[in-house]
Amino acid sequence: MMNQTYAFEADFVASKQYITRATIHNIRGVPIPPPPFRDRPKTEGALLLELETNDGIIGYATSGYAHHSAIHLINEFMAPRIIEARVDPFRTDLIAGLFDRHTWERALGRMFNIALAMIDIACWDIKGKAVGKPVHHLLGGARDRVPVYVTHGAAYEGAPTYSREELAKEAAHLVGLGCTHLKNTVGRQRIPDPVDDYHRMAAMREAVGADIKLSMDGNLRMTLPQAMKLCQMCEELDIAFIEEPIHYNDPRNLHHLRMKTTIPVAAAENERFSTLQLLQADAVDIIQPNINNDGGITAAIRNAAVARAFNVPLGHGNGNGPHNIALHAGLQHGGLVEYHFHKWMAYNAIFKEVPQPKDGWLDVSQKPGLGLEPKDGLIAEYAVKV
Ligand SMILES: [Mg+2]
Repeated sequence: MMNQTYAFEADFVASKQYITRATIHNIRGVPIPPPPFRDRPKTEGALLLELETNDGIIGYATSGYAHHSAIHLINEFMAPRIIEARVDPFRTDLIAGLFDRHTWERALGRMFNIALAMIDIACWDIKGKAVGKPVHHLLGGARDRVPVYVTHGAAYEGAPTYSREELAKEAAHLVGLGCTHLKNTVGRQRIPDPVDDYHRMAAMREAVGADIKLSMDGNLRMTLPQAMKLCQMCEELDIAFIEEPIHYNDPRNLHHLRMKTTIPVAAAENERFSTLQLLQADAVDIIQPNINNDGGITAAIRNAAVARAFNVPLGHGNGNGPHNIALHAGLQHGGLVEYHFHKWMAYNAIFKEVPQPKDGWLDVSQKPGLGLEPKDGLIAEYAVKV
């Protein structure tokens, strides 16, 4: 606990409502149904943050990555400063500003943004609960349903790589469950192999027919020539978008790709480049902020405004679909939300009510806040010592 007074904190007026408690739980080993044609993963976990106000409102958030350094940052550094300063949870820009003044804090990089995201998301949950409105209405309330796509086909925890036939079978199975848009990861071979990926996508297209949307995610794995070859081969398969195909999301290389393919290119600010850099380079057709990885809803609003200025729509990738719904329902140029299969199952296992895909859409929670409350007894049963 730091008992230091920060000069900056003298610049705001004390509030009647303020944060008094931050508790982070490391949830591990929650049973989930594995993907339809694999026996793993069978369990999932998450970091779950509780922020409580002096008047007893509790906001919840999860993190994109369950890494111990995020726990340490919140417990040892961020929560003490917020609690000591008696910050009003409505003042999310001020809270971000408390941690945005020193270059050494910036040097903490991605993990800092993940820790800040948890605090910010929990504050937005509190805001909604305090005023009795769902968060997407606080953000602008552009719609009460959002389109959703389901990502599958990547093997985890040492499970064998999907064969083309298995990938096709799983795609058809998910369509049978009501999914209308699927995304598969590409470039996962030891050396990315666009010809193999083309055949994998072609097998999926044949299995699901012409009316289902298919997308690809390169997870930053390919060179420009590899991505170019894959896109040119896959154009005949009617691909809805390709996400983060090229190393480091290099804006110049993404621009070259975009000029040479009809497949829309999507990217988040990932690794080295910002939303602004991607847009200034004409590198993307879709900007994909992820509130859980990059500073929360407050940071996503800033990136969304930049995208809006360039008339580029928003999409979503990189997990935590249910927490990202509010942004896409709230803003007029919001877009598709991703449900990554095992992350979707994890949300179903951890939270009481999670919007479920129905004919390609999610009905947005109308409950005050984000509508994502952990199941009764879950923390007691699955939280491990932090
Ligand atoms: Mg992705």
